[in-house]
Amino acid sequence: MAPRSAPTSRSRAKPPRTGDAARRLRGFYSRLVEAYGPQQWWPAKTPFEVVIGAYLTQNTAWTSVERSIANLAARDLLRVEAIRALPEAELRDLVRPSGYMVRKAAAIKAFVAFLDQEYSGSLERLAAEDPEIARERLLALPGVGPETADAILLYALGHPAIVVDEYLRRVVTRHGLLDEKAKYAEIQALGEAAFAAEPYAERAAHCNEFHAVIVELGKRHCRRVPKCEECPLAWDLKLVKARRRVP
Ligand code: SF4
Repeated sequence: MAPRSAPTSRSRAKPPRTGDAARRLRGFYSRLVEAYGPQQWWPAKTPFEVVIGAYLTQNTAWTSVERSIANLAARDLLRVEAIRALPEAELRDLVRPSGYMVRKAAAIKAFVAFLDQEYSGSLERLAAEDPEIARERLLALPGVGPETADAILLYALGHPAIVVDEYLRRVVTRHGLLDEKAKYAEIQALGEAAFAAEPYAERAAHCNEFHAVIVELGKRHCRRVPKCEECPLAWDLKLVKARRRVP
């Protein structure tokens, strides 16, 4: 991977805007790492495979993504040059297991065209771009929302980005760190504040593990109907409830 660009206004350490909430979220992370152990995300062999997975996983279970990835791997297509040469109709068929095959195939082709046009087809060059600019450019592509852009920034390009998903939203709102109507950017700002004190070079590793343990938490305990009794964060929820009972 190419050397990272210098930290920008987005990537520089910022003082926590929501100090107490950020400290608690940082504490959740430590507790979850202790409880679940290393997660070793993202489950992909190369940065380009991460990009493909980030598109395919939208609105789909990961098991379906794995079937599409296996289709592509079987034909040795998990490479920029291979996807560039592949007719879009064939790509559609191969990613069919992940659903929304028309939209997803078109979006993947658009990503490769963008990479060719702006970065000579090189993910390393995109990784060396200012992360703020890279994020804006990713968000301008078809089929890329904030969650996909941040997953690509973090897991394919190695930048410290907080990925906000439904699981993180549940935790921060159920524990009263943010209002239930909090927007993506507010939740992301809280996550950034939680890790703002970490050295820049270590933040990407923490962001990586943070998203992974939050997904694990969401799958094991913080489900639509939460299973709080055995959850590693039950202690904090008890404090929250106790505080709410105090007049
Ligand atoms: S399952 Fe319960 S204790 Fe665990 S994170 Fe969700 S709300 Fe908190």
